[in-house]
Amino acid sequence: MQQDIIHGLNLTRPKRLITSVDRPNLFMGFETVENAKQKQARALAVVQQVQGPKILYFDRKKEAERYAELLQGQGIAAAFYHAGLDTLERDRIQRQFMANQVAVICATSAFGMGIDKPDVRLVLYLHLPDSLEAYSQGIGRAGRDGQKSATLVLLEPNDLNRAGQFAASVPDQRLIETIFKHPSAYTDFDDPQVDLIEAYIQAGFTQPQVEAQLAARRGEKQKSFQAIAALATTSDCKRTTLLRHFDSSGAAHTAFCCGALTPAVIAQLATGAPAEPIKSQDWQQIFARIFNRN
Ligand SMILES: [Zn+2]
Repeated sequence: MQQDIIHGLNLTRPKRLITSVDRPNLFMGFETVENAKQKQARALAVVQQVQGPKILYFDRKKEAERYAELLQGQGIAAAFYHAGLDTLERDRIQRQFMANQVAVICATSAFGMGIDKPDVRLVLYLHLPDSLEAYSQGIGRAGRDGQKSATLVLLEPNDLNRAGQFAASVPDQRLIETIFKHPSAYTDFDDPQVDLIEAYIQAGFTQPQVEAQLAARRGEKQKSFQAIAALATTSDCKRTTLLRHFDSSGAAHTAFCCGALTPAVIAQLATGAPAEPIKSQDWQQIFARIFNRN
């Protein structure tokens, strides 16, 4: 990646400032429960126990919607976010999250680009992320203010199989062609492969470009799956394993490092009064502030 950047930008003998990808203020939780029912109970309990804004990641839109509804039923200000929503709706939910009007976002990987909220206290994955890169980027949305925050990959045995099957299959040309011809017919489709193609379309890729991308991805996807599955199942320190993959240095395992998200770990997380929702101001106030007339 470093070589790619240097070549891409035509840099000659650049000064390199390389820091560790380690984020010591993030707890890298990994838990496996026996089945889907236990998983749901555990997820809801963790959401209740950890204070502050939270992001929950799903690999299916319907699951994101279902969890948002479950949380709303418990009186929690939750919303769902995925590529099936139109731009306006996605923008609205993003703003509400930034303004603390929504406390929990239940999202697919479509959520996150450009999100820079400093006080996210929990990033919870309810599926195995696609790769160590995706995982590292996803959990990196927690604790940007440097305060202790939790991340958790919560799995049941089926999740590893699902992720493995998904990594082994890549959308074929016919599927890509059909979605490009009838994009609106597929927005409600609940399939990670369809979502992936939709994400490319939304990012402005042409059909030949998508085909080329996906062909190039075939082998990479398998390798990525094996690496993230190894992280999820290793009994070694998760942080050390992740940092080794990125050729990065970091501290040894401590009490606030990795493993089960126990009450003792949760007790160490940053708390504080729940953030006040930012009230929308009337236009005179905003105008006065812009022109320094307060
Ligand atoms: Zn560790």
